[in-house]
Amino acid sequence: MNLNKHTELIRQHALRLGFEAIGFSPARRLVEEESRFEEWLRAGRNGTMMWMENNFDKRLDPTLLVPGARSVVSVLMSYNQPELFKEIDQEADTPRISKYALGDDYHDVMKSKLYELFEFTREVVGNVEGRVFVDSAPVMDKTWAKLGGLGWIGKNSNLLNKKLGSFYFIGEMILDAKFEYDNSTADHCGTCTRCIDACPTDAIYEPYRVDATKCISYFTIELRDAIPTEYHNSIGNWIYGCDICQDVCPWNRKASPAKNQELFARNELVNRDIDFWEELDIQEYRRLFKNSAVKRTKFTGLKRNIEVVRSNINDSD
Ligand code: SF4
Ligand code: SF4
Repeated sequence: MNLNKHTELIRQHALRLGFEAIGFSPARRLVEEESRFEEWLRAGRNGTMMWMENNFDKRLDPTLLVPGARSVVSVLMSYNQPELFKEIDQEADTPRISKYALGDDYHDVMKSKLYELFEFTREVVGNVEGRVFVDSAPVMDKTWAKLGGLGWIGKNSNLLNKKLGSFYFIGEMILDAKFEYDNSTADHCGTCTRCIDACPTDAIYEPYRVDATKCISYFTIELRDAIPTEYHNSIGNWIYGCDICQDVCPWNRKASPAKNQELFARNELVNRDIDFWEELDIQEYRRLFKNSAVKRTKFTGLKRNIEVVRSNINDSD
């Protein structure tokens, strides 16, 4: 069987498993990312996320993660629910959770499907070695997805796909087999600057560059300390993450809905008022966020965020 056929069979199987898109690129050191990434780290734009600077070389070179790696196979899985998203209350007095975190933890859902795809690949190709990743190792997932033709990296630093917008997760298989490779897509941001203009903290300090230490997602999810007071107002009603630079992106306006219901939002997390969140105790937190990505910020982190949002709501009354 030739490369083309292998690639096509795997592509079709990925779609059957519930992935919205799949792209193949040759594994190599990402030399073009090296200086940009080093500069970003040197400026301290990763904040307390030390894991971003650990394994610097591995992050740039997939052959250091999988010896003999020849290909990176990227997949996308959408969580876009346009109908539900329209119903999310945008009012300043309704606390909000980033859309990606409203459903089951994507790590588990995607990883089990990626393992299935890996097994299928072994059946088709034969003796293939490799690993699957979903945010679990130092992999530049957006860059690999871009190289695999799945979209372009927008000015808000998210991967954008003409059909899917940006409300999806990215995973990959790094394999020691060769495939038929895809071509990169052109940048379709054009003259648009909506994400830059809408960011309440000016975290997008120049097109395509985000300072994580100014981003609401960082403050409300990654930061373990108190949120700097000068950013409290800008946090608005976000108690976990922030979608503003994706919500305003025109490519998300007509993005196709997700087909995989496993990632659908839990309705009980949408449009709850501030009293509900303030009254949340540890038992209810455990029940509500069982198998949810929100656990990353822990109970104390979520409570810290709720306090900031409560004070913003009081100020706006
Ligand atoms: S997620 Fe929010 S705070 Fe972060 S860059 Fe986007 S708009 Fe700005
Ligand atoms: S809002 Fe505009 S500039 Fe920003 S990522 Fe979307 S298309 Fe690109």
